[in-house]
Amino acid sequence: MDTSRIVGNEALKRELNRNFHAYIIEGPHGSGKTTLAKLIAQGNVCISEGVRPCGKCPSCVKFLADCNIDIKYIPADTDVKNMRAAISDIYVRPNESEKRCYIIEDCDDLSVQCQNVLLKSLEEPPQFSVFILTCTSKEKLLETIRSRCVVLTLAPVRNEDAEKFFAQSRFDKYSPQQKQAAINLSEGFLGKAIEVLEGASYGVYNLCESFTNACLDGAVGEAVKIASFKTREELQSFVRNLSVYIAARMRSGEKKDVHRLFAFSEAVNSLVKQVEFNVNVKLWNVVLVMRCMGAVSLSKRG
Ligand SMILES: [Zn+2]
Repeated sequence: MDTSRIVGNEALKRELNRNFHAYIIEGPHGSGKTTLAKLIAQGNVCISEGVRPCGKCPSCVKFLADCNIDIKYIPADTDVKNMRAAISDIYVRPNESEKRCYIIEDCDDLSVQCQNVLLKSLEEPPQFSVFILTCTSKEKLLETIRSRCVVLTLAPVRNEDAEKFFAQSRFDKYSPQQKQAAINLSEGFLGKAIEVLEGASYGVYNLCESFTNACLDGAVGEAVKIASFKTREELQSFVRNLSVYIAARMRSGEKKDVHRLFAFSEAVNSLVKQVEFNVNVKLWNVVLVMRCMGAVSLSKRG
């Protein structure tokens, strides 16, 4: 199979050279589960004699236009009746491909009843049916399902692979520092890194950058506005991300304010562990601002 679209994950790519009738793709948010599910599906419906998927055969063209009827998407939050209906054609030959694929994404939400309906099909699968399930963790699925599927676990990509990926021209508008920070914040999962860069979901990068700059500029009001987290999880996640962000910013070789950045980073790092235990979010929003701004202003004087 042509796996050039997948970054890193060499062991997983080798698995794709064999054919299976059922896959579980597991990985965190932004790890590329959907991309991989679609690649496997396209590879299975492609009718090229050469390397699959070819991207050119009638079946691939339909896939790329989102209208290949040999690929069925089943929502994971479906009920038993609809699940039965959705897979009622598994013993019917595919329309124009050798295989028919059923993709069920986000199986973390798939009910036990629906899994049991699925199980019957996985136990006696016809040659021409392929099931592709995605989830954040295979543990969310019944052992009986897991044992009938090959599990593909998406791993974070190496820094150099991520850098190569972000060297594509569509990312030219971002600075090397921004890209590196996004890679670090996303812990090597490219989908998440793209979200951080493009601010599509939560704008973590922008938030960390704004908070750091507010502290460096002595803009208390701005820092307080950012540090107004509602839940402990939000606060913890921000402090962790801030710690990674500031490390990346220091590595990027910023010449200005080096000492103050260092003091800021020390303050943030000491907070990472402390906020894991403390539950009073309102109080710790204030502590976060005071410690960070305090460290920066002390360093200025020294
Ligand atoms: Zn093709």
